[in-house]
Amino acid sequence: MADQLKELRDFHEDVWHCTKCFCCAYVNPYYLEDEDYYYGCPAGKYFEFDSHHASGRMEIARGIIEEEIPYPTEKLLEIIYSCTTCGLCNANCSFLKDLEPVEVIEAVRRKLVEDGIGPLPQHKKFADSIEKNHNAYQENHDKRLKKINNAKINPEAEHIYYIGCTSSYRTIEIANATIKILNKLDYDYTVGDDEWCCGSPLFRTGQTEAGIKVMEHNLKTIKEKFPNAKSILFSCAGCYRTFKTDYKKLYGSDFDVKLVHISELLQTLIKNGTIKLSIKDINITYHDPCHLGRHCDVYEPPRDVIESFSNLIEMPRNRINAWCCGSGGGVKSAFNDMAIATALDRLEEARSINADILMSTCPFCKLNLCQANDQADEKIEILDLVEFIAKIL
Ligand code: SF4
Ligand code: SF4
Repeated sequence: MADQLKELRDFHEDVWHCTKCFCCAYVNPYYLEDEDYYYGCPAGKYFEFDSHHASGRMEIARGIIEEEIPYPTEKLLEIIYSCTTCGLCNANCSFLKDLEPVEVIEAVRRKLVEDGIGPLPQHKKFADSIEKNHNAYQENHDKRLKKINNAKINPEAEHIYYIGCTSSYRTIEIANATIKILNKLDYDYTVGDDEWCCGSPLFRTGQTEAGIKVMEHNLKTIKEKFPNAKSILFSCAGCYRTFKTDYKKLYGSDFDVKLVHISELLQTLIKNGTIKLSIKDINITYHDPCHLGRHCDVYEPPRDVIESFSNLIEMPRNRINAWCCGSGGGVKSAFNDMAIATALDRLEEARSINADILMSTCPFCKLNLCQANDQADEKIEILDLVEFIAKIL
């Protein structure tokens, strides 16, 4: 099944087509809204070396393919694994040169793992936890639903709410808010009683075989336990992206269940009049999670929902140009200082437009943004979209 994914050598021509133009470092100038917020690549900004941008990683990929670079070195692993896989470089480079640097970076990671050099010890640690506990957080699998209130388990349900590890064990308020909304709407849903990690941290760090193992478990369980399921609903942008891109790529057309992010469902229910929300005089800015925005092209549904009950105000870097929260691609576990510094930049950007609330649609973004907020001199309220809706519905 892993052979559905390209090998590093398949990108040989692509890496030669990188002209080192550096358009992958900055936001797309066509959409530049504020020259103070021109930077796009969080790894490049934090480490301040050419090598830590997509262009540098393309050159390293060339060196590995052509066996010019002796590896492993600690520095090489830092460069390859400090990319959040945010996809800003993909957005610019695919537009200009028809290249996707993140695909190359992930292929390098897969090769490092195949050759026994990668991933980093922190990534191995969460892989071990996923194998043993089926979650990345070293938590007991049997307690996955322990703190989730009033969740329904119904083998006949037409829709599955896939909670994900982060909201099962860390940002539990997001799972509880989602369930509160679904119960209030009398939505025909079920949660899974044997849900495993979606595999996102494994796929992003090159640990494909382990990722395939959890994917096969999740898909088999869904088919066997919930035969009527027509759709899977997600409140986690990372899980949604993993099902939508990684599972689809590996499983192909055999996997034909509809995948829906909660913001898409809410947008539909607001548009058709099922949900009516009272208007609040409050300024909310929306942080696009990279997994939902650039990787799945879902930009407008959360904005439509926010606009239906508040004043939506945009940060200078939004939609395709959004600044990453800093935690993806295995960076949070291996380079926490970079993850926090990147999130602090985002908080400052939200404060610069006088937002009352910084809102997102991803538990992993919320986790990292909140940790940065704790360290910031000036605070801002950070909420997931479902938390606000659950309060006012
Ligand atoms: S990766 Fe793309 S955008 Fe970046 S330097 Fe190379 S060609 Fe330019
Ligand atoms: S995915 Fe993001 S962090 Fe990685 S090289 Fe591209 S812009 Fe930089």
